[in-house]
Amino acid sequence: MTKVRNEVDVLAVAAHRDDVEQTCGGTLLKMRSLGLETGILDLTQGEAGTRGSATERAAEAEAAGSILGVRLRKALDLPDGRVENTYENRLKVIRVLRELRPRVVILPYWQGRHPDHYTAATLGYEACFLSGLARVESGQAPYRPYKIVYASLYADVRPTFVVDITPFIGQRYQALMAYRSQYSNAEDGSALFVPEEEIRERTFAEARHYGQLAGVRYAEPFVQKEVGLVEDLMLLPVASL
Ligand SMILES: [Zn+2]
Repeated sequence: MTKVRNEVDVLAVAAHRDDVEQTCGGTLLKMRSLGLETGILDLTQGEAGTRGSATERAAEAEAAGSILGVRLRKALDLPDGRVENTYENRLKVIRVLRELRPRVVILPYWQGRHPDHYTAATLGYEACFLSGLARVESGQAPYRPYKIVYASLYADVRPTFVVDITPFIGQRYQALMAYRSQYSNAEDGSALFVPEEEIRERTFAEARHYGQLAGVRYAEPFVQKEVGLVEDLMLLPVASL
């Protein structure tokens, strides 16, 4: 039997284009620097936004993805603002999981302000589970990821762990700024959109806050539902005092 190839090691799934850039882009950069293959799956194409067409955003998302060093970036066609956890949508995510076979899946945290974000968490989790069942048919071999972690930057929760992204903070910010139609200082819709300087400050301040929790400069927060497993107490990172 021929071994089926894993197209990516880590797959970040998010509701909207630019979510990944805000919550776990630095982690994707770091994993890439460790030699791992990474990918992004955006569930929507951002057609409901005030600025920029879906085509424009597709080009921006592609540019942002290449700054993040991902091997591939895909977008599903779920309606923006109406991400729903239906069987049909789970099957769309399952098809991507079975094609890319990621070992680790990053999902948004399961609570939050935007319904698309928390619905994406549940939809993503259930797709990961069902993807492992042979009776869920998509014409592909069943595949279940090993690990799910939740990017919790949008959520007001204490992270289970953080990833040190200090060397990558500038690149992560550049990836966010690739969404020119959303973030550059523009005339139209300016009452709705925060200026670039404000976004820069927020991006760095948030990363600094989570870095501080672990004694590093910049970090991104994650929650995992499982307990941690330790072999050697001597190798536990992060000083207590
Ligand atoms: Zn979003």
